[in-house]
Amino acid sequence: MSDDCIFCKIAHGELPADTVYQDENITAFRDIEPQAKTHILVITNKHFDSLNDACRDEPEILGHLLRICAMVARDHGIDDSGYRVLTNVGNDGGQSVGHLHFHVLGGNKLSPGLG
Ligand code: 5GP
Ligand code: ZN
Repeated sequence: MSDDCIFCKIAHGELPADTVYQDENITAFRDIEPQAKTHILVITNKHFDSLNDACRDEPEILGHLLRICAMVARDHGIDDSGYRVLTNVGNDGGQSVGHLHFHVLGGNKLSPGLG
């Protein structure tokens, strides 16, 4: 756990969040500033700065993370209507929180643009 990381604190119950799923490796909670009707963040409980670090240090967790993204979409009734899963990496990627997280967005038509 990284002491000054808000997502570590959420994963360890030290900061409140609207948590929708948690297991020993993954936590999913609603984004505080939703960009779609359904906007859930799916994070590893363990701190990785970004996809780069998780891919280098513990790639096997990424399959589980993606499965939980799909499960969260199904649980929120957006699997059939469609949704988007994305992770921002670094400055050019627009990452603002330095703890690996996947956005699950849906519940309404999303903008077609990807950058
Ligand atoms: P990024 O820009 O790094 O890809 O996404 C970070 C996301 O975290 C943003 O969508 C932002 O709204 C969300 N966020 C930042 N701080 C908090 C927080 O304290 N609680 C929750 N639930 N979401 C947060
Ligand atoms: Zn962290």
